[in-house]
Amino acid sequence: MSHHHADHDHVHHGSDLSPVEARVRALESLLTEKGYLDPAALDALVELYETKVGPHLGARVVARAWVDPAFRARLLAEATPAIAELGIGGRGGEHMVVVENTPETHNLVVCTLCSCYPWPVLGLPPVWYKAPPYRARAVIDPRGVLAEFGVTLPETTRITVWDSTAETRYMVLPLRPAGTEGFSEEALAALVTRDAMIGTGLPKALPVEPVEMPV
Ligand code: FE
Repeated sequence: MSHHHADHDHVHHGSDLSPVEARVRALESLLTEKGYLDPAALDALVELYETKVGPHLGARVVARAWVDPAFRARLLAEATPAIAELGIGGRGGEHMVVVENTPETHNLVVCTLCSCYPWPVLGLPPVWYKAPPYRARAVIDPRGVLAEFGVTLPETTRITVWDSTAETRYMVLPLRPAGTEGFSEEALAALVTRDAMIGTGLPKALPVEPVEMPV
């Protein structure tokens, strides 16, 4: 796709556009023409979500909760102000709820109605999150969905599914991986994946350290 945000109001390759992209482009042109939209402001917004806002922010929240029990308590009690303590927040994150995985319970987040997603902590949603199969099956067969993501939980682990709405957006606080005692917050954050915060994944496993064998 020859789409460059810096000069996108000059370079149009209409034939390269999918029907949806063409409609978006038409809307953008119309709104700009009518003076409702500043293309530079739109570019800044797209740039923000493409480069600055992403799951690395949610990972910082998770890592802080793992090392700071008081923060964790505030996060679980009232997530929005706790997340704001780290300077994170904004549109789509006004009413955040953080649900904690435990050895007994695994949490999975979906938006069955459309694609509501906690943008300020996770950035833009992955394509599958917005797709009908995930939205339908996450509720009916969460264990099957998790298996497709490569996550197999013990039969005894209960799976709780949270249905996001335009008002309330959920984020999962995954279990801190074993063997990470003494890890820095930064090192912990690097283990936290986007999917772990949606509940379709788990934090990254620790790299296996080579064991030094006596010669
Ligand atoms: Fe939605």
